[in-house]
Amino acid sequence: MEHVPACSRIAPSPTGPLHLGNACTFLVNWALARRHGWRLVLRIEDLDRERTRAAGDADVEELLGWLGIDHDGPVIRQSARLPAYEAAMERLAAQGLVYESPHSRAEVREAAQALSAPHAGDAPTPFPATLRPEERAAWRFVRHDVNHRMQMDPGVERIADEVAGAHSFDPAASDGDCIVWTKAGHPAYQLAVTVDDLAQGVTDVVRGDDLLPSAAIQARIHRALGGTPPRWWHLPLVLDAGGARMAKRRGSRSLASLREAGATADRIRGLVLAWIGAREAPAPAGASEFRDAVDVNILRAWHERSRRTPVVADDASLTWLRGR
Ligand code: GLU
Repeated sequence: MEHVPACSRIAPSPTGPLHLGNACTFLVNWALARRHGWRLVLRIEDLDRERTRAAGDADVEELLGWLGIDHDGPVIRQSARLPAYEAAMERLAAQGLVYESPHSRAEVREAAQALSAPHAGDAPTPFPATLRPEERAAWRFVRHDVNHRMQMDPGVERIADEVAGAHSFDPAASDGDCIVWTKAGHPAYQLAVTVDDLAQGVTDVVRGDDLLPSAAIQARIHRALGGTPPRWWHLPLVLDAGGARMAKRRGSRSLASLREAGATADRIRGLVLAWIGAREAPAPAGASEFRDAVDVNILRAWHERSRRTPVVADDASLTWLRGR
């Protein structure tokens, strides 16, 4: 069998300044890649042009370099890869898997509500299969003016995550047919990320565990495009002091602002080592010390612990980062 070199990717969406949660995920991703001898590619997920522009073109590469995160090969920008996404859509269309889906959200909700008893607090409405077009002519790819969905057949998708353990999802039940192409003439996230992971030879996806259910959808798209799904390493998210998932809009916690306030890369690495449980308490850590301290058992224990006690970027952490 041909030897496929392992490869991982760092895939930021530059829709706002990078924060400590991004730093944590990217540093762990980098350490895994460097310890295991994987290639590590950088992919800028800038399909959302408006939000990317609004964020002022934050310099992701410069900040990653400051954190000691180096990558291999050329940087890929999704905004420059439209032809690759179109080719993938053609391939899915040739298999009869995608269709034009002009329905509004309200229509989707209404059709779904008609299928089941209403329960308060139900999960978001999956797209009902009853709204698939009956006429075969609509099972095609037309690029513009209409959303396209990919057929998700019922069935359990098992994800054996290296960090988060074994999980089962049924995308047909939770989401229904997923949007793969938007009416603005762009690929949707699920399609773009899968096409790029395939094109870049990504064998190991390391990212935040809010994307764990997406792994099931992406595994299906991978196979439909003739690929083998990658290994998955979903890491716990870092919460902000209020207990919410860190959001890019909280400028005060941006890496750039922390750096201005005196934080060093050594301190950020040291804080992350304490967060993931590789150290009892934060102490400044160089890049090689960080790399050598991260291993899969530490990450699994962190994941287990974080279900009860998530990592919080509290005031004490921030004060320590600033070094005063
Ligand atoms: N670009 C996505 C984000 O920043 C991550 C996508 C992925 O890792 O699959 O949320």
